[in-house]
Amino acid sequence: MGRAEVYPVIVVGAGVAGCRAASVLARQGIEVLLVDEATFPRWKPCAGGLSLKVRPYLDGPLGDLVETTVRGAWLVLDEERRTHLRSADPLGWMVHREAFDLAHLELAGSDPRVQALLGVKVLGIHEHAGGVVVETRRGEFLAEAVIGADGARGVVSRAVPGHDSRLLGFAYEGEAHPPSQRLQDEVYFHFRAFPWGYGWIFPKAHHYSLGGYVFGRGQPGIKERYEEFCRRVPWLQESRTYRTRGHPVVMGGDLRRLHTRRIVLAGEAGGLVDPLTGEGIYYALRSGDLAGRAVAAFLQRGTPLETYGDLIRTEMQEELRWARLLAHLFYRFPAWAFHVLFRTRQPCRWFAAVSAGHLPYSHLVRRLLASAPERLTGVFRQAAGRGERESLAGGAESP
Ligand SMILES: Cc1cc2nc3c(=O)[nH]c(=O)nc-3n(C[C@H](O)[C@H](O)[C@H](O)COP(=O)(O)OP(=O)(O)OC[C@H]3O[C@@H](n4cnc5c(N)ncnc54)[C@H](O)[C@@H]3O)c2cc1C
Repeated sequence: MGRAEVYPVIVVGAGVAGCRAASVLARQGIEVLLVDEATFPRWKPCAGGLSLKVRPYLDGPLGDLVETTVRGAWLVLDEERRTHLRSADPLGWMVHREAFDLAHLELAGSDPRVQALLGVKVLGIHEHAGGVVVETRRGEFLAEAVIGADGARGVVSRAVPGHDSRLLGFAYEGEAHPPSQRLQDEVYFHFRAFPWGYGWIFPKAHHYSLGGYVFGRGQPGIKERYEEFCRRVPWLQESRTYRTRGHPVVMGGDLRRLHTRRIVLAGEAGGLVDPLTGEGIYYALRSGDLAGRAVAAFLQRGTPLETYGDLIRTEMQEELRWARLLAHLFYRFPAWAFHVLFRTRQPCRWFAAVSAGHLPYSHLVRRLLASAPERLTGVFRQAAGRGERESLAGGAESP
């Protein structure tokens, strides 16, 4: 075999984290090889729900990919206990990952400094004092630094200590053609449909995304739960479901190191997913951005990649530890948690503020604890109560 091709940076994975990192590096004048085993457009199992935190990353043509602006939510525990939220302001957005990820790849590839190598699987990563060897089905490549943005099933994280202690969750997803009587701009969550998790229905322009997110690995019977969910939820009756698939989710909630001397992990490859909600797109975009900047500083000024590890720890990992604590409580005691969080106006607002990035989870936990005595009385009062509506941010209530 001939000599390995050499690049300043190789980004493994052309999902949203990898494309964002490649774009940032290219803007700093650095050449990038962006490798993905898939050819695009590719299908990514994902519900495509974006929280308001994603707003800074929806500039230019990416904003046009929003299929639904969410202005309401159904939060359901069972037939009797359900909360309906409406807001005049957007609560989030829906995209379709095939189109969303393709647009990110096109944006990154529009810079001549980004060379995309698609349909090529990376088999292994070997770090040496002078560089990193990336072994692929197409031969070996050499880089001064590597960004692992290869998602839940990737290989780069194996080269970083802590791989074996990753926290795994699971999601089972499908799509459905909605009936005429459909959810329009509202999302639906059911907190009893899946053990240790929730079922969702998200409306897109022409279909629903639906499925179950489970906090914890190994879920025997999840397919049957999904089928039951499709049979019982009113919004899904008369719908035809297709494209069903299960997928692991590498969750956040630990303080694992996400860097070595020459490698950083971004997005789900680094477990940057909210363990309570399963949200990963924002964390992938943000960490891809930070990874690109950190690697540029490493190459141009010799700044150690530890700075990336420190930033991710303070900005994301510590925050996601609180989310993990809440996930343990919420999914162990769903009825109690439903009453505490979703049956009264104030916690609903706090939760919406967390989702929008205006309130850290740590503050939510403190506020919940501070209001616990008053809330406990409310729990008993409401335990026998029936469905009610809540309005967020002074928004109008729907019929
Ligand atoms: C069913 C489901 C529903 C979800 N719903 C939501 C949601 O509604 N909202 C939300 O915010 N998050 C959601 N998530 C989480 C979210 O999808 C991920 O956290 C996010 O896509 C991570 O982005 P990423 O760029 O890090 O990785 P990915 O988007 O997974 O991209 C990784 C890329 O790496 C490539 N790759 C992998 N291995 C190799 C290899 N060996 N060689 C070369 N290339 C490789 C893959 O082909 C892929 O293109 C969901 C996850 C699942 C499973």
